[in-house]
Amino acid sequence: MDFKNVTVAGSGVLGYQIAFQTAFHGYQVTVYDINDEVLEKAKSKFAILSEAFKRDLNATSVQLEATHERLSYTSNLAEAVKDADLLIEAVPENPKIKIDFYHKLAQVAPEKTVFATNSSTLLPSQFAAETGRPEKFIALHFANEIWKHNTAEIMGHPATDEKVFDDLVAFATSIGMIALPLYKEQPGYIVNSLLVPFLNAATDLLVKGVSDPQTIDKTWMVATGAPLGPFAILDIVGITTAYNINKMTAEASKDPLKIKTVEYLKEHFIDKNKLGVATGEGFYTYPNPAYQKKDFLK
Ligand code: NAD
Repeated sequence: MDFKNVTVAGSGVLGYQIAFQTAFHGYQVTVYDINDEVLEKAKSKFAILSEAFKRDLNATSVQLEATHERLSYTSNLAEAVKDADLLIEAVPENPKIKIDFYHKLAQVAPEKTVFATNSSTLLPSQFAAETGRPEKFIALHFANEIWKHNTAEIMGHPATDEKVFDDLVAFATSIGMIALPLYKEQPGYIVNSLLVPFLNAATDLLVKGVSDPQTIDKTWMVATGAPLGPFAILDIVGITTAYNINKMTAEASKDPLKIKTVEYLKEHFIDKNKLGVATGEGFYTYPNPAYQKKDFLK
């Protein structure tokens, strides 16, 4: 592996975390997003992540200053990728946006650049042709709060070059991740093959009126000893992501319960900008959500 320069496309919830984590581990990182206003918002997250790295990883001010110096920002795609050895794509989980992005990227990226998608629900084989370089295209999937939940699932599609696969395993390890190779394409990788049905089961219970979010979370926590229940996890993942996943399922399956779930999330959360931890309110209010209080499990 000879990666030095990494570009991260999309500076939202995951993109900025990936950029920060990669720069923290010594790579030169360029953050790309659609306009300068969005990039200004991304820059302001530097301070928040620095605090988290200090708190959770004992990062020093010297390390964080060096991280800051290794990060640069641009809304010009050609400029963003001109020296990139690796581009990590974290644009919205919407096939149209992704395909459009890869078409534009293929026109400006140098031949050497490996493309990695962080998509949670789409398979690399769905985009391989659009990238113009299927053998250098792969999925590299991180989890939210990447510095703590440091999984990196690496999944090729049938035409991914074996060396690219091995390089990505090495790269993931080099940025402090636990590299988790998948030997076969699997929708949802390993984590989401487990997590999505779990979260769906929770929203099904809620939308059917069986119980309320706090009781459902409490049940799971007491019964299994888990530190979080499904609704606390939904707040961390972001309700927009849950909404988008449910919407795709509802459109494909026409399942009345899924359609009801989409309407429920839209009415109670999306339309009210209650999107989870990121906006300070979702199923719980932040900081100090109820499930972290001492008497929650009583
Ligand atoms: P997000 O909506 O928070 O961020 C998306 C970013 O992409 C925004 O900053 C947006 O301005 C930018 N963007 C939009 N169109 C773009 C374009 N054409 N070019 C470049 N940037 C563009 O989304 P997110 O939650 O960070 O998710 C991004 C990807 O990461 C998705 O594929 C998602 O499945 C995946 N992912 C998300 C999570 C999570 O917990 N949120 C976890 C793992 C993987």
